[in-house]
Amino acid sequence: MSSFESLIRAVPDFPKPGVVFRDITPLLADASAFARCVDAMAEPWRDAQVQAVCGVESRGFIFAAAIAQKLGAGFVPLRKPGKLPPPVMHADYQLEYGTDRLEARVDTLRQRERVLLVDDVLATGGTLGAARNLLGQLGADLVGASVVIELLALQGRALWPDSVPLHALLHY
Ligand code: 5GP
Repeated sequence: MSSFESLIRAVPDFPKPGVVFRDITPLLADASAFARCVDAMAEPWRDAQVQAVCGVESRGFIFAAAIAQKLGAGFVPLRKPGKLPPPVMHADYQLEYGTDRLEARVDTLRQRERVLLVDDVLATGGTLGAARNLLGQLGADLVGASVVIELLALQGRALWPDSVPLHALLHY
């Protein structure tokens, strides 16, 4: 049985010089490892009465949809701009150069619906922060967040409130 770590490929200088990209595609391609990964991500939230799992485009979708099935919850996509039909709400976040945006349909979540937020990687924390902001605008009750990988050197957790549990399966 392969460990998760052995199935995450470190790719130096991708997508640009100096960055070590953590490639999750070997893990996804291994049936047993992918299933165990989804189980381990869902486990902390089994008794959290999660009603919707929100995944961040695009790799977050892969894990969020599978976790939603495990938890008996719905799946809600948080998408890049222009992909969802209106009406949408949005939250912007800072990239190294410029900004990016996440959008969600205004009618996909009920007020105070219990939501778990999911992405593949926590790096600087900008993406997860924007997702949290967006869910706040939608009136969701954010139960917690779950990522496969936390890149500790980038200190993304510092932007995340201590009051909301944030679970990472692997740390680099
Ligand atoms: P942040 O906003 O925390 O800086 O970046 C997190 C987002 O960038 C996630 O949505 C994730 O998909 C992507 N990302 C950043 N670094 C990596 C990486 O090394 N591997 C993968 N798979 N995604 C990354």
